[in-house]
Amino acid sequence: MAQAIDPIIKNVSPELIMALKEALTNLAVPELNTDAWSLNILREVIMEERLKICVVLPTFGLRSEKNIAFAIKKALVEHVGDPELVDLFIYSDVKPAAVQSIKIPEVADVRNIILVSSGKGGVGKSTVASNLAVAMASLGCRVGLLDADVYGPSIPVMFDLEGEGEVKGFSDKETNTTYMIPPIKYDIALMSIGFLVDTDAPMIWRGPMIASASMQMFHNVYWGQLDYLIVDLPPGTGDIQLTIAQKINVAGAIIVSTPQDVALKDVVRAKKMFDKVSIPTIGLIENMSYFMCDGCEKRHEIFANGGAQEQAAKLGMSVLGEIPLVPSIRSASDEGKPITALEPESELAGLFREIAHDVCAFHALQATAEVLPNNSVLNNPQRANEAAPEKKRRLPVL
Ligand code: ADP
Repeated sequence: MAQAIDPIIKNVSPELIMALKEALTNLAVPELNTDAWSLNILREVIMEERLKICVVLPTFGLRSEKNIAFAIKKALVEHVGDPELVDLFIYSDVKPAAVQSIKIPEVADVRNIILVSSGKGGVGKSTVASNLAVAMASLGCRVGLLDADVYGPSIPVMFDLEGEGEVKGFSDKETNTTYMIPPIKYDIALMSIGFLVDTDAPMIWRGPMIASASMQMFHNVYWGQLDYLIVDLPPGTGDIQLTIAQKINVAGAIIVSTPQDVALKDVVRAKKMFDKVSIPTIGLIENMSYFMCDGCEKRHEIFANGGAQEQAAKLGMSVLGEIPLVPSIRSASDEGKPITALEPESELAGLFREIAHDVCAFHALQATAEVLPNNSVLNNPQRANEAAPEKKRRLPVL
């Protein structure tokens, strides 16, 4: 469980702390298999003219976030009497779930790297990666998106960045290193192999450029502080994918597939690759799962239904979500705005947000677990000592 941190308590009666303890102990946080008190989230309870309370959650996007906030507020208001006198501040501190590969003072502090992969091309991997990035950012996470799909980088189109000119950069004279500055859209720091390499050039010229460019995209970018860097991998399980998986410490991988059998066989290959390099698989996302036509709410199951669930169960993975085949997903991407950003209140955006909640919980669970999986990358005693600046936030509904 999380390391105990003593909260700062000033001018507050022991009864009030007991009331808080009781409220939080009785509140289950099912996504982290614990109760809210055991998460050790209290940082400050200070009574001056008003009662100020600060809590730090282990991630943004916890489904239990509002329940925790309400439980605290209720316990405090019962004590103080007037809700107007209580100031509740919610912070999040996303800890690394694996040893950090990208940590350069004043340049980059990337807490978690998530690979989005697929057994073959055209299944919607980039679409899923982009919409997941937007959904995670909308939950409060600091997110980056790295398009490493050397065969067909699509992030520049999906985020309307084509023809924006060269990526800007700067040089650190002390270390003689150049860093690129990623463009930001919808609060997401973006980097694409398409910014660095002429992807229309024949592969024979691109090959050597790609090998060095794919590592530069991780290490030579002014990422700033990121809770999650989502990497859109090239499709398949070839050399580039394996190199990235081996050279970068990854917190988790997502596999995207369509429902057809052939594609599902590719899922097995992708899962085996991640197992081989000890990368935990977060789960499977079935894209183009069923068809929804414009103006009809009916779910048309074009491909056999249930394949993803069956395959995932066999491989010991969970299904993170089923995304329908909807014309607006394609048209939004073509227009340079992922559907989750274009229609944040839509049902589709809701589907991606549900996946984002699960992805956040997966990492928080890994990072706070006392006994981590038998994985040399994850078993890092230093991890617990890495102090992380916290991000302040007020929940809107309180
Ligand atoms: P990949 O990265 O796997 O090669 P893309 O994300 O580029 O695949 O998607 C391939 C094409 O399918 C794109 O034109 C994209 O807009 C479209 N597409 C992806 N997912 C969906 C979906 N759920 N509904 C409709 N079109 C989709």
